[in-house]
Amino acid sequence: MIDAKERTARRTHGFTESVIREMSRVARSADAINLGQGFPDFPAPDVIKEAACRAIREDVNQYAVTWGTPSLRMALAKKYQDSYGLDVDPETEITVTCGATEAMAAIMLSLVNPDDEVIVFEPFYENYGPDATLSGAKPVFLPLSAPDFRLDATELEARVTERTRAIIVNTPNNPTGRVFSREELEAIADVCRRRDLIAFTDEIYEHIYYDGEHLPLATFDGMRDRTVTISGASKTFAITGWRIGTIVAPPDLTGAIRKVHDFLTVGAPAPLQEACAHAMTVLGREYYDGLAEEYRERREVLHQALTEAGFDAVKPEGAYYIMADFSALSDMDDDTFARHLTTEGGVASVPGSSFFSDRVRGSSLVRFAFCKSLGKLEEAGERLRRYASAGS
Ligand code: GLN
Repeated sequence: MIDAKERTARRTHGFTESVIREMSRVARSADAINLGQGFPDFPAPDVIKEAACRAIREDVNQYAVTWGTPSLRMALAKKYQDSYGLDVDPETEITVTCGATEAMAAIMLSLVNPDDEVIVFEPFYENYGPDATLSGAKPVFLPLSAPDFRLDATELEARVTERTRAIIVNTPNNPTGRVFSREELEAIADVCRRRDLIAFTDEIYEHIYYDGEHLPLATFDGMRDRTVTISGASKTFAITGWRIGTIVAPPDLTGAIRKVHDFLTVGAPAPLQEACAHAMTVLGREYYDGLAEEYRERREVLHQALTEAGFDAVKPEGAYYIMADFSALSDMDDDTFARHLTTEGGVASVPGSSFFSDRVRGSSLVRFAFCKSLGKLEEAGERLRRYASAGS
């Protein structure tokens, strides 16, 4: 038998399977409550579901314009103007992709050269490193330290070299729950301007924050032209399976991104883009505020349960995850603990090491997602308390 390595491309050899999706499989087979993979278990708003059905019935069933259906690009331009005062040209600066995941891959493949370096803060969302590798670039990691995961400007500067092309920023942050402050973002903007770098900002959780405010990096002085902003409809409208992601970038960068996006996927699902455009038009500020309010309640329930069960966890400022230290409960490593908690405790999480390049840094951490109905979170809380009092 020939070694699989000989039959597969070298660029795949360093990749491991997604731990997040692996934990969903473990949760299913153990019949556990899945607080691992971050997908909502509650319904999407009726207005978006109705609009999707209507679009399909009206036969919006063929390819959309490659870079996005006009109605969605217009709705996005209006949203960026109304929410952030950003002037975005829907004709030349917006690309709609198959989820934020395709967005980041298309951006790296179109804007980063082989051998370039891309700075990635860690803990990180699991796709950023592999995306850099797929484009032939080298991810350079900048560790942010628990419990507050603040950005140190000097540390950032120290990682910039002649080869650095871009900095990846994710705010509100998965998995730490940080919402970067004006001061931290100003430090990133300052390095980008002085060292001629581009920022790729993943703002998929832009409407889910509890303290302070979400500040798009593109609104900072001199950053409009050197920021590529990713977002999407998955988290905002609880439709992670629809795969609607969005990119805002200056026209020259958008030109390259659109070509790569075209060759990768041709376009995102046409009727679902129409539905998102409709939802963005009829659901405004009030919907976004309500969304954050509901998430705040879920955050309280899970955070309290974790604390009572003996985990050490900081309340997130945004997004819908809690990184929790379990050292007071167990001396297992994170992988063993997460599996044990799933099979014996009935609650699935994601092992912390999957968010670090140096896995040891996550070995006493697990990440819980709280994008679940209150009833399910309360039940999970009960199970966590029971697990802890049974002594793991
Ligand atoms: N963003 C979600 C999470 O972090 C889903 C990720 C995924 O399945 N790739 O859990």
